[in-house]
Amino acid sequence: MIWEFLLGLGLGALVAALGYFLGWLALSGALVVVVASVLNFGFGGWWWGALPLLFIVSTGLWSRYRSGQKWSISDRFSADAARTGVQVLATMGWATILVFVQPGLANDSILYAAFVGAIATVTGDAWATQVGVLSARPPRMMTTHQRVPPGTPGAVSALGMVACLAGTWLIGIVGLALVALQGTLTEEGTWDQATLTWLPLGAAVGGIIGCLVDSFLGSAAQAVYYCPRCEKYTERPNHLPGHQTEQVRGWPWMTNEVVNLTSSVVGAAVASGMVALLAGITR
Ligand SMILES: [Zn+2]
Repeated sequence: MIWEFLLGLGLGALVAALGYFLGWLALSGALVVVVASVLNFGFGGWWWGALPLLFIVSTGLWSRYRSGQKWSISDRFSADAARTGVQVLATMGWATILVFVQPGLANDSILYAAFVGAIATVTGDAWATQVGVLSARPPRMMTTHQRVPPGTPGAVSALGMVACLAGTWLIGIVGLALVALQGTLTEEGTWDQATLTWLPLGAAVGGIIGCLVDSFLGSAAQAVYYCPRCEKYTERPNHLPGHQTEQVRGWPWMTNEVVNLTSSVVGAAVASGMVALLAGITR
């Protein structure tokens, strides 16, 4: 276990430093990545710890993709939009809590499916946000079907859905590859292989439903503010220093972080339920 803590520290620090210097992570966000990585590797094992790092790196790479074009669209894509500690915690927090349950259950396949479902959801959502905003056709609000400017919370586009699907499948397949590798290396045989066969499908379905919940809450409940000075909609009550904003919809406590956390819990529940159901039917 000690070398797994050290591996988590080393790889977490590497990813955090990369994210910090390339501008995807604020200093607080980078610190949360290191701490979460130490816990994920130490309590879950390397096959649990590697998956959240794939989420951070892949999302960071997408945020660099055509970033010049995105800057003008929304605050979320502005030059200073590096993820803070609270934002990273909102995406990886639920999965890390699941890792703490893991030592008592010793490689429980259904719990692992919940963990993969949580990471699949936040990865799908982040890819959908970073890629979907480049859609040539303006997205629609999920609740009202109105066409809205790209980058509006709760807006969905066909391109964003494709990106979400790709992200969820990647996490599901890599999640399966990691446990398969772990099983081969240790020959412990504690994994229920018939159950884990369903992992990629469970992660995709859980991830997509998690993303839809994210868009629904973003569209129906998330607090959105308007800054008259910049003539822009924003997720933050304090747009820029000295800019007075007015709240135009949603509940003040329903921030983007609450939406992300909620959708990751739903994605985990659907993924684990789906894997348990399919394994039960086909057994
Ligand atoms: Zn402003």
